[in-house]
Parts: sequence; structure tokens; C-alpha cells
Amino acid sequence: MKLVSFNRNGGKGWGVVTPSGVVDMSRRFQGRYPTLRSALAADLLSEIGHEAGQASPDFGLSDLQLAPPIPDPEKIICIGLNYRAHVGEGGGAVPQYPSLFTRFTNTLVAHDAPMIVPKVSSELDYECELAFVIGRPGRHLDPASAMRHVAGYTCFNDGSVRDYQTSHSLPAGKNFVGTAGCGPWLVTGDEIADPGRLSLRTILNGVEVQHGNTSDMIFGIPEIIAYVSSFTPLNPGDIIATGTPEGVGFLRKPPLWLRPGDIVDIEVEKVGLLRNPIVAEAG
Ligand code: MG
Repeated sequence: MKLVSFNRNGGKGWGVVTPSGVVDMSRRFQGRYPTLRSALAADLLSEIGHEAGQASPDFGLSDLQLAPPIPDPEKIICIGLNYRAHVGEGGGAVPQYPSLFTRFTNTLVAHDAPMIVPKVSSELDYECELAFVIGRPGRHLDPASAMRHVAGYTCFNDGSVRDYQTSHSLPAGKNFVGTAGCGPWLVTGDEIADPGRLSLRTILNGVEVQHGNTSDMIFGIPEIIAYVSSFTPLNPGDIIATGTPEGVGFLRKPPLWLRPGDIVDIEVEKVGLLRNPIVAEAG
């Protein structure tokens, strides 16, 4: 099942993408669950699937403006240096524990929405990633049972402003407004038998620039869940991006930066294709 959050005619909603269109679930639940996050918190995935299976679509996917699948997460956590080949291209050591940072919600941009090259830097870089979204809450989770807490998966572009990240501070470089593509949808976990064996890539202006497989991850999703939940509770709608493979722009010679007018696609096998145009910061 593919779940989307969207804006339409000035209102917000969420629904299920079917082959013939989108079933508006926010309308069917009559305001009881106004957001996809609230529906995940109510553990409604099986009810959503049942309802959507009996419904006719309310509109076409192209009739609405997609939002990030979870536009209002409590937390966005990103794992860095989590692919062996990416650690190798950076010349660093394999981390002993998951290396992580957090993002503000206002860094998220939806499928087809622009990612922003900031005024103060020209060094915006792409990072294709598999992200997962928490369904059931938990603390001090065991890796063996951790996957029960995953609602589903989405594509993530961990857009990074490299001069700020490397010369100033990691949180600054990773938190410029509008630098994290997320979407187009949330694919529920039942559709992906093994998230540890998915190919993923970045395509810049039609040319593949990054290609890896989640089998190269150092810390798998169960280990990430166990680690993060050891220091903070995981809550429904939390987004965790799992890191990027080799091929990032700033380690190329010469470096490859995202420029206004570019189109960047992140494709994750069985999850989908996230597309973002690149624009310059206004003003
Ligand atoms: Mg990253």
C-alpha cells in the first residue's frame, strides 16, 4: 500500500494511492485522523487497507500537490557513514556505533517540490537514501523485534551544504531550509520483504551519479532502531534516513554540485522515484 500526504484546494489531507487514483482517507475518517501521522499513531494500517480496497478513488494523483509523506514528524534522524564504500571514499574509519544527526522539519520538501541552493553557499550536494517511518512507538527495543515498529519506507535525498557541514558544523550543513527531498509516498512494510537488499541510486539531469545497495549498510534497520531507542523513545511518524552509498558530489574530482535548473531523482528499488528540481533561494 502506498500512502501519501497532500495539499489540495487549500486544504491538507492524506490517502491511499491505487492504480486508478487516490482514495482520500482523511475525508473518510471525518477528521478523526487528520494526518497520516495521527493514523499511524492509532495503529490503523490494516483498517486503512480494508477501507481503501472497497472505495473508489476521489481524484487522480496528478490532481493534488504532494506533501512529504509525514509532513509533521516529531523527529527526523539521519544516519551518516553507514555504507562501507561511502566510508571508504571519504577515507575515514568504519564507525563503532551509528553516527547520527538530526534535521528540522522545515528541511523537508515533497516530491516535485524544489530543493533550495542557499544564498550563502553554492555547495549543495545530493545523497540518495532509504528512509523508514516508525509506526508503533517503543523504547529500548531489541533488534529481533524492531521491525514490528516500522510502518514503511520512503525515498530520501539528504541534501547537504558541504562547506557548512565540513568547515562550520554538521548540524548547520544538514539543516538548510528545503534541502531534504522526501517521498513521493510511504510504502508499507508488508510490500518490502527485505529492506536490507534494495538497490538505490541518484540520477542527476538523466545521468546516474550514485548507485548502491542497502546490503552494503554497516548498521541495518533493526540495529538502528535498537540504538536510537536506547536514548530516546521512537514515536509514530518519526523518520529515520539510513545513510548514503558512494558517489556523492563533494568527493568527486572535480566536485559535482547541484545547480539551479537541475533535476535530481532518487530511486529506491520497490519504493519509488523521488524527483526534485533545484532552485536558488529567493530574494
Ligand atoms: Mg546522508
